[in-house]
Amino acid sequence: MNKKLTGRLMVAAVAVLSLASCSRTETASDEHGAVHWGYEAEDGPETWGSMNSEWALCADGLEQSPIDLSNASLTELPGVGIHLPSGQEVEVLNQAGVIDALDNGHTIQINSKTGETLTVGDKTYALVQFHFHAPSEHTVNGGHFPMEMHFVHQAEDGALAVIGVLIEEGAENESIQPLWEQLAAATGAQAAIRIPPEFADHIFTGDPTGVFHYRGSLTTPPCSEGVDWFVRRTPTQLSQDQIAAFTAVYDHNNRPVQALNSRTLYLDESPAVTIH
Ligand SMILES: [Zn+2]
Repeated sequence: MNKKLTGRLMVAAVAVLSLASCSRTETASDEHGAVHWGYEAEDGPETWGSMNSEWALCADGLEQSPIDLSNASLTELPGVGIHLPSGQEVEVLNQAGVIDALDNGHTIQINSKTGETLTVGDKTYALVQFHFHAPSEHTVNGGHFPMEMHFVHQAEDGALAVIGVLIEEGAENESIQPLWEQLAAATGAQAAIRIPPEFADHIFTGDPTGVFHYRGSLTTPPCSEGVDWFVRRTPTQLSQDQIAAFTAVYDHNNRPVQALNSRTLYLDESPAVTIH
């Protein structure tokens, strides 16, 4: 791995640890000079790059996420294996109102405590957290889905990989329900819940073939690059009521799609993602 890439990965690693540790941060406020980002005109994606010198990639980066998933080049990825939380206790954090210099994002974030894993070929990443966006951040042929889940993983060397799962309206997803009960919690509140054992089966539903892959970035400040993205082609389903329950709280926490530039978007059409 070259030095430049290693450096970028280290920056990304710090960013993820910040995301994961926001529940422990002190409550910084405007009068303490914290930089606040969000999704409104005055603090939204168009302004992130100029808010903080450490977030310059949000404006200048050439390998940014999300992107439009279209015109993919067919490829064969090394095997991708996912082990999602099941039957384990996780920490649910309502991020609205959580304020620190790096992160006052707006989402429901689930911090993994037990190190579920993602394997890509022979490389292993540990699940750090997962969270939700509405509408989807990635688009497919220019179209948004109602929501998208991101499973953020980190390897021992600091490298980041994110699994994206698009969400369409359909059947009720019972595995999401324990998480949704936290939507009504006070902002900044956290709760420990148990993920249902069948969680992975209820998220990775439908046609098992097809995963998009490209090199991108975090979709929130500091927009660190060097992130390996894997977005499953088949969406999972939440009911209209479940989607409405989320969008009643967070209805536009998505960064717009970014230019592909000189990158290649790949699509592996085999059943590339193994759930275990
Ligand atoms: Zn995300």
